[in-house]
Amino acid sequence: SLTLGIETSCDETALALVDRGRLVAERIATQIDAHALFGGVVPELASREHLRVLAPLFDELLADAGIGPDDIANIAVARGPGLLGSLLVGLSFAKGLALATGARLVGVNHLWAHLTAPALEQEFEYPALGLLVSGGHTQTYLIRSPLEFEVLGRTLDDAAGEAFDKAAKTFNFPYPGGKYIDMLGRRAQPDHSMFPRPYVNNDNLDFSFSGVKTAVVNHVEAHPHLRLPRMPEPGEDVETILTEAGVLDEFSLVCSSYNWCIADALRIKVERALRTVADAGVRSLVVAGGVAANSVIRSTMTTLAETHGLRCVLPPLRLCTDNGAMIAIMGERLVNAGWCHDLDLEAIPRGRAVPWDYRRIVE
Ligand code: ATP
Ligand code: MG
Ligand code: FE
Repeated sequence: SLTLGIETSCDETALALVDRGRLVAERIATQIDAHALFGGVVPELASREHLRVLAPLFDELLADAGIGPDDIANIAVARGPGLLGSLLVGLSFAKGLALATGARLVGVNHLWAHLTAPALEQEFEYPALGLLVSGGHTQTYLIRSPLEFEVLGRTLDDAAGEAFDKAAKTFNFPYPGGKYIDMLGRRAQPDHSMFPRPYVNNDNLDFSFSGVKTAVVNHVEAHPHLRLPRMPEPGEDVETILTEAGVLDEFSLVCSSYNWCIADALRIKVERALRTVADAGVRSLVVAGGVAANSVIRSTMTTLAETHGLRCVLPPLRLCTDNGAMIAIMGERLVNAGWCHDLDLEAIPRGRAVPWDYRRIVE
């Protein structure tokens, strides 16, 4: 039977249909261009965009799959954490559809869904250690089973994604700029002394990225030529502009060093988390969220998993960032375990814990 996944927590409007853990169809509309003008996600604009595109996107999804709304058995919707107004658009749509078709409604924790996404493409064993690195979150989890997530460490201030995006903004890279730091950094070996690894000289499992974010801003202030002199023309790449300006090598070194210090701080805390839960019998290391697209983080975590005899589970890039498939598969797992919600399901804004408020399915 089909489970629909609806994702509207931030700046992606995404829908997918999943059947027994397999993707059937998916549609995604990104709002990146709408927010790029402002250099970040504008919440009010995000809600309006979700409202504008969601219903047509749903029609396209049904056409792709060759089904009608009544063929959907379960409606899984991201219920938080995320931007409240954006979540409400997805939630209202889900509730209306559930009411109209009689499909079962199930709210999904967006962060658990990120960590479940790789299961669409590969099987892995639990317990797993989860590293969630996204635009708004940096957390480690002990995932005892597909529905048992326990937070071990979390960021005290900014997420790793914010540290990438802020640095990119300081360099004048196009928005969102994390991928440019990754790309340029690959051209150089990191200088380990350029930026201190953030928040590693302690014995806890938490993260902090606001300090290193400030360090890069200060570095650029002291070296003002570390700013992209102009925006790339359509089809032009950033490297060309930096080469013209004679600063490609210096940019590459700074990006590589910055990327290394973030990746290595993540490594230190993940290793510490593994030691902390040594008794749990962890089998896999799952890395998820948009920042899991980062090549240095991917190779660092691959090596770490090898060292510890774990299977390294890295989603393909399209499953790293927000998508509907991860919501659908998480929802399907909940329903299969006998859990659902009623129409009074509420949205949970960023910063608030998502409650376990499911009710048992009674047939
Ligand atoms: P959350 O799930 O916490 O609400 P989000 O879903 O908006 O946040 P994602 O879409 O998972 O976040 O990830 C977006 C982030 O990933 C951005 O900060 C972006 O810069 C970052 N990112 C994408 N590709 C890379 C890369 N190659 N290197 C570093 N960061 C990257
Ligand atoms: Mg996004
Ligand atoms: Fe997300």
